[in-house]
Amino acid sequence: MSQTVLVINSGSSSVKYQLIDPESGHAIAKGLAERIGEPEGHIQHRYSQKAVDLNEPLPDHGVALTEILRLFDEVGPALADADIVAVGHRIVQGGRYFDGPALIDDRVRNLIDELSTLAPLHNPAHLKGIDVARRLLPNVPHVAVFDTAFFQSLPPEAATYALDREIAEKYSVRRYGAHGTSHQYVSKRVSTILGARDLKQIVLHLGNGASASAIVGDKAIDTSMGLTPLEGLVMGTRTGDIDPAVVFHLERVAGMSVDEVDTLFNKKSGLKGLTGDNDMRGVREMAKSGDPEARKRARVALNIYVNRILKYIGSFTAEMGGVDVITFTAGIGENDIDLRREVCEQLVPFGVVLDEEANNQRVSEPITISKRGSSVRVMVVPTNEELAIAKQALTLV
Ligand code: ADP
Repeated sequence: MSQTVLVINSGSSSVKYQLIDPESGHAIAKGLAERIGEPEGHIQHRYSQKAVDLNEPLPDHGVALTEILRLFDEVGPALADADIVAVGHRIVQGGRYFDGPALIDDRVRNLIDELSTLAPLHNPAHLKGIDVARRLLPNVPHVAVFDTAFFQSLPPEAATYALDREIAEKYSVRRYGAHGTSHQYVSKRVSTILGARDLKQIVLHLGNGASASAIVGDKAIDTSMGLTPLEGLVMGTRTGDIDPAVVFHLERVAGMSVDEVDTLFNKKSGLKGLTGDNDMRGVREMAKSGDPEARKRARVALNIYVNRILKYIGSFTAEMGGVDVITFTAGIGENDIDLRREVCEQLVPFGVVLDEEANNQRVSEPITISKRGSSVRVMVVPTNEELAIAKQALTLV
C-alpha cells in the first residue's frame, strides 16, 4: 500500500473518516460513527466490497474512535500496514490565525479552542476528535485544515462589515467564509484543466450548506458566507441572507429568544422552511406533484434559490470586472441538471450559452457545460473535501 492520510471530520455527535491515498485520490476505506452520546450509537465502516455495521452505545468520541480503529484492524485495512503519514482534521473555524493548514501541537490546539466562541457547534467537537486521535495515534503528525483558511485572503472591503469598528475589533466580528477547502480545490482544478493561472472564477458550492466564491488567479476576493455559514445563499435548512432586523422583530412581536431565532435561521429555514423538505430531490419531486399548493410552494422556493445565486453571480462579476468561468459543485451543483439550466437561462442576456446535451450528462469527472462561443465557460467539477484535506495535510509532513 502506498502512503496514506487518515482524514477525520468530527462533529458534535458524529465522526466521519476516510483513509485516502493522496496520490491517486482513492478512498481506501471510509466510515461514519453517529449518535455519539446517545443510547443507541452506530458505526458503518466500508472497505473494499465490505460494509460493516456496528450498533452499540458510543458514550463519547474516545469510545467512537477506539471502535473505528478496531474496525480497521478487524475489517481492514490494518492500520499498522497502511503507512499513514498524517492525520488530517477538518476544522470549521480558523479565525484570523490560520491562512493554511497547521501541524497540531499544544499551541495550535489551544488556538482552535480559543476560536470556539466563533464556532460554538463545531470547534469544540473538532477538539474532541483531535484529542482522542492524538492519544490513539501518537506517532503520526496531526494536521488541522481550516474551512476558513482560503478566505483569509479576502480584501478588507469583502472581509469587513459596516459595523462600529471598535465593537467589530473587540469581538472579532468579520467575514471569515466557509467551505474554503472545497472552493480552493475546485478552482485549482479548473485552472489546471484549462491551463490558465489568471482566471476570474465563480465557484458555486451547492450542497446542504451552500456558498459562492469569487476567485482571481489563486486568491479568493469575496465569498457569500460571513462570520458564520449562515450568510449568503439559500441552503437546506439555513436562511442565507436576511435582514438582521428580522431578529429584532421576532424578539419584539413573537417573544422569541436569541437562541430560538438562531435555531429558526439555522435549522428550520431555507428549503426546509419554505417547503418542509430540506433535500433538493424532495423539493424537485414536490414541484412535480399532483397537489397544486405543494407544487406552488416548491416552485417559489426554487425561484428564491436561483434568484439568490444570480445575485451573487452578478455582484461577484462586477467586483472582479468580469468572469471567465462559473463552476457548479457539491450535491446539488453536481447532480441537479434543472438547477444548472435555470441559472444559465437567466444568464443568456450576458452571452452565456448552455450546451443542453453536456448539461444533461451525469459524470463523476469535470465537464464543460457551456457551448463554444459562450461568453463565460460554465463547468461542473465534483468536489472532494476529504482528498483536499489529505493533500493539504501532506504538504506539512
Ligand atoms: P453536504 O453539504 O451535506 O455535504 P451534499 O454536497 O451531499 O451535502 O449535497 C446534498 C444535497 O444534494 C441535497 O439537497 C440533495 O438533495 C442534493 N442532491 C443529490 N443528488 C441530487 C440530484 N440528483 N438532484 C438534485 N439534488 C440532488
